[in-house]
Amino acid sequence: MGVLKDFFNLVKGMTITGKHLGRHAVTIQYPEQKMEMFERSRGVVVLLSDKETGELNCTMCMLCMRACPTAAIQIDAPRDENKKRVLNSFVIDNTLCCYCGLCEEACNFCAIKMAPLYEFSTWNKDDLVWDVKKLQEMGRDVPYEDTRKKKPAAADKPAAEKKPAAAANPGADAKPAAPEAKPAAPEAKPAAPEAKPAAPTEKPEETKDEAAPSKAEPSDDDKKGDV
Ligand code: SF4
Ligand code: SF4
Repeated sequence: MGVLKDFFNLVKGMTITGKHLGRHAVTIQYPEQKMEMFERSRGVVVLLSDKETGELNCTMCMLCMRACPTAAIQIDAPRDENKKRVLNSFVIDNTLCCYCGLCEEACNFCAIKMAPLYEFSTWNKDDLVWDVKKLQEMGRDVPYEDTRKKKPAAADKPAAEKKPAAAANPGADAKPAAPEAKPAAPEAKPAAPEAKPAAPTEKPEETKDEAAPSKAEPSDDDKKGDV
């Protein structure tokens, strides 16, 4: 009875194995095979550099250090006599990091990022404390989108902000030209009105006589009346 049960279990196991023989494998043979990580996967924390100059993007604002809940980030950047920060050390202790990503969220300068890198195992714990040189080296080839606001170069400033060049405005230095000459005097006064018309001529005598008959010589009718 026991032999029969063992044979039954053997057949059952071989059947399950046979079912999966033609299926796609869900595991890989690490370290011979390695998975390609997604860009936003949360791997080791690194420091990013400018794509053109190669200098660190970090401005030493300390926000990531304050945001880190495990105190894995330690930055030493005192101010010099010009009130400018000088980076003495930037250390991340990977034995403390919990890969929460808060440091990346706090940074406004695209300077710190969780890179899709996961192979940093070591026999010595001290090797997991990375200084700024190691952090920059690990982040060299990490792709990222540069969202920093860059100051416009002098050549890129709009023409309106530039002072007018002397060549472009040759008369700028010279005093402004004298105002235009005063307008000519108003035209001469119009000629005096024409002479008054001559005095009316003497009335004709005949008209006088008709208008005012003389009293000295009464007419014939007047004489008859008197009689
Ligand atoms: S991922 Fe989290 S724990 Fe790790 S350094 Fe950044 S803030 Fe600290
Ligand atoms: S990595 Fe970012 S948040 Fe941290 S100190 Fe540098 S600029 Fe500030």
